[in-house]
Amino acid sequence: MTAAQAHPLSVRFEPRMCDQHVVDLTLDCSFACIYCPFADRNARAHGVDRPTAVDCSRLEELTPPAAVFLSPASDAFAPQAAGQTHALLEAWLPRGTKIGILTKGMIPRRTLDLLAEFRDQIEGIAIGVTSLDERRNRSLEPGSPPATERLRNVDRAAARGLIAGVRLDPLFPEVDDAPEAMDAIVAECAQRGGRGIIATYVFAWGRYLKRLRREPVVAPSIAHLTEVAPMAGGVAYSVPLARKLETYSFLAERAHAHGLTFGTCGCKDLRLAELETTFYLRCRWPAYLPAEDTAGFPAP
Ligand code: SF4
Repeated sequence: MTAAQAHPLSVRFEPRMCDQHVVDLTLDCSFACIYCPFADRNARAHGVDRPTAVDCSRLEELTPPAAVFLSPASDAFAPQAAGQTHALLEAWLPRGTKIGILTKGMIPRRTLDLLAEFRDQIEGIAIGVTSLDERRNRSLEPGSPPATERLRNVDRAAARGLIAGVRLDPLFPEVDDAPEAMDAIVAECAQRGGRGIIATYVFAWGRYLKRLRREPVVAPSIAHLTEVAPMAGGVAYSVPLARKLETYSFLAERAHAHGLTFGTCGCKDLRLAELETTFYLRCRWPAYLPAEDTAGFPAP
C-alpha cells in the first residue's frame, strides 16, 4: 500500500475557518512557507514528512458538501495537488458544490476554464501575495512561484468572469505593512481586474512563535507581536489591536478608492467584532456573504 492510498481524501467541517467544509489534497505542502503551522501540523498528525498527495480514487463515493474551501492545511495548486484538485472540481462542480479557493500557486488554464463553466458556484479565488519584494518572498515562501507570476492568476480569472482578488496573509509588521508597499498590491489587484483585498496580520504561538524568532528575515518583526489576541479556538501572539485597526482601515480606504472590497478574518481577533470598522470581518468573499455581513459596504 502506498502512502497516498493510506490517506484517503476527507471532508471536514471547520468552525475556525468561517464555518466551512474544507478539504486538503495533499498532506504537507511543497511551498514550505516558514510561517505556516498548518501544513506541518497536519503532516505530522498523519505520520508523513514530505508533501504527499491524498488518495482521490474514491472521490465519486463521497457525498460532496454544499460548499468547500480549498485548502486549510495545504495549497490546492501546489504541484503535487493541482491534478487532484482538478479531478475533485470535475466531480463536485456538476453536483452543485460551491468552491472557495486560496492559493499561492498557479491555477492551470484548463482548471480556470472548468471553474468558469460553473462561475456561479465559485465564491472567489484569493491569490496569496503579501509582498512584491521577491527577496522577502524567496525567504518566507521558498517553494512558491514569484509574486508577479501568482498575480497572473488574477488576470486569467477575471478574463473568464471569475471573482478573484489578492490576500495579504500573513502580514509581518515592519516587513510588509509600509503603506506604499500595501498600496502597490491593491493597485496591482485593481489593474488586473481583481474584485477585492483580504489581509490579516501574522499570529503565532508555542513552537511556531519560537521558530519565527529564530528566522533572521522576520525575527525583528516578531518582536512586535506583543499582545495576546483572543481567536476562534484559543489565543495567539499578535500585533496590538491599534496597529491592526490602523492598517486594515488604510487598506479598506485604498481598496475602496480602487472600487475593491476589503475584509480581514474576524476569527483571528475576536475583539474586532466589538468595534466599528470600515471593513468586512470575514475572509470569505464578500459578494457571497449574508446580507447582514455586507450592509453598508461598497458592492464588488
Ligand atoms: S502555501 Fe499555505 S499551506 Fe502551503 S506552506 Fe504556505 S501557508 Fe502553508
